Amino acid sequence: MSANAESTAYRSALEVIGAVEPRVANAIRAELADQRESLKLIASENYASPATLLAMGNWFSDKYAEGTVGRRFYAGCQNVDTVEALAAEHARELFGAPYAYVQPHSGIDANLVAFWAVLADRIESPALKRAQVRHVNNLTEADWFALRRELGNQRMLGMSLDAGGHLTHGFRPNISGKMFDQRSYGTDPETGLIDYDRVAEAAREFKPLILVGGYSAYPRKVNFRILREIADSVGATFMVDMAHFAGLVAGKVFTGDFDPIPHAHIVTSTTHKSLRGPRGGLVLCGPELAEQVDRGCPMVLGGPLPQVMAAKAVALAEARRPDFVDYAERIVANAQALADGLQRRGAKLVTGGTDNHLALIDVTGYGLTGRQAEQALLDSGIVTNRNAIPQDPNGAWYTSGIRIGTPALTTRGFGTAELDATAELIHTVLSRTSPGTNADGTASKAKYVLDPGVADRVGKQASDLLTGFPLYPAIDLG
Ligand code: PLP
Repeated sequence: MSANAESTAYRSALEVIGAVEPRVANAIRAELADQRESLKLIASENYASPATLLAMGNWFSDKYAEGTVGRRFYAGCQNVDTVEALAAEHARELFGAPYAYVQPHSGIDANLVAFWAVLADRIESPALKRAQVRHVNNLTEADWFALRRELGNQRMLGMSLDAGGHLTHGFRPNISGKMFDQRSYGTDPETGLIDYDRVAEAAREFKPLILVGGYSAYPRKVNFRILREIADSVGATFMVDMAHFAGLVAGKVFTGDFDPIPHAHIVTSTTHKSLRGPRGGLVLCGPELAEQVDRGCPMVLGGPLPQVMAAKAVALAEARRPDFVDYAERIVANAQALADGLQRRGAKLVTGGTDNHLALIDVTGYGLTGRQAEQALLDSGIVTNRNAIPQDPNGAWYTSGIRIGTPALTTRGFGTAELDATAELIHTVLSRTSPGTNADGTASKAKYVLDPGVADRVGKQASDLLTGFPLYPAIDLG
C-alpha cells in the first residue's frame, strides 16, 4: 500500500460528499479534528482502523440480504455471503467458539437475539408460536402479559445497574425488563467485588431461566467457571455479555476461568469497544442454539447491514494478528497505571483498582457528584462519562462516579507513563473543582466551580500529551 493511500481515500471521499452536501463533509472533517484533540477516556469507545472504516462506505449498503449465508430471501447475495461467512469464520477462530452470528446491528440487538434464542429453545408455548408468526412488534400489552403467563419461568438474574450491569440485563427502561422478571446480584459493600456465594443464594431463591454475566462498569475480572456452576445448579442458561471486554478475550488477557467462551451457553458482544471494530454486535454459541440464533433476522433484527459485516470481517482479521495480543495487554497495563496514579494522588477507586480496561473513580472523595466531575473534566479537555457506583447516594442521573477506560488512548499509542500523566491531570481538575449552589442558595448536584485558569492549563497539558501520539497519522485531509 502506498504511503498516502489513506489520505487519498479520505480526501477523495470528502470531495465527492462535499459536492453534494458540503455541510456533511465539513462535519466529518470536524469530527476527525475533534477526536484528534480530545483526551478520550470513555471506556466504551475506541478508534477503528482506516481499513475497517473504509469497508463500511460502499455499495454493500445498497443490498438487502435477509436470511443467512447461502439461504437468503433475496436474490444476488453472493458477495454478502462472502463477507458474512468471512466475518463469522474470523469470529469463530478468534474466540474459539463453535458458532458465530455476525448480523446484530448493535450490542442491544445481539442481546435480544440471544434472549429470544434461549426462550425459543427452552419454552414450548402456544403464545410463543403465535408471536413467531405474527412478529413480536405487533404484540399488544395484553398479549405480552398472556405470553408471559404461558411462558412461565421468564426470570433473569443479572448484575445490578449500580454494580456495573447493563440496561439490557433485565432493567425496565429496556425491553428485557418487560420480557423478564428481573433480580439483580450486586457486589460486596466492603470490597466492591462480586460475591459468588450471594449470587448462588439469589439463584437458588429466584431460579432464573437466564443467568447473565458481563458488565459495563465493573473494573475486575469475572470468574465465569463459577457462574456456570451456579447456573447449572438451578438449571439456568448461562449467558455472558462481553460487550466491554471482548478485546481482552480476543487478546488472550482473559483466559481459563475468566474466558467466557468455554463456560457460557451463549455469549454476546459489541464489536466497537475494546475489540476496535465497527459499531455492531455478534452472538457466539454452540450448535444447540445456533438454529434459533440464526432466526435473529427478521425475528428481532431488521435486514443485515452487509457493509458493517464487511467491516467486522476486516476488524476481526486485525484482531487475529499477533500484535492484538500486545494491544490487549497494553490496555490493561495502561488502566492499571491510570488507577495506580490516581490512587497515589489520593483518589478513591471502586474496588481499589482494576484488572481490566476500566476504572471507576468515586468522586464523593472530592466532594463532587459524577455530573459535576464529568463537566469539569470536559472543560479541561478530558472526555469521560459519569457512572453510578455501588449503592450510589446520588442516583443514576447525577451519580457519584466517573468511569474511565484505556482502549482508545492505547490505540493512539499511549503507554503507562502517559497514563500516569493523565492521572495527574484528572486529579488536578477534580481536586480544584468545588460544588456550586442553586439560585436559592441550596447545594446543586449539577453546578460546579472550577477556576478557568486551571481548566485552560490542564487543557493545554492534555493537548501537549496528545501531540506525541497523533490519531490516524497517515491521514492528512489538507
Ligand atoms: N451490553 C453492554 C455490556 C454494554 O456496555 C453495551 C453498551 O454500552 C451494550 C450491551 C449495548 O451496545 P450498543 O450500544 O451497541 O447497543
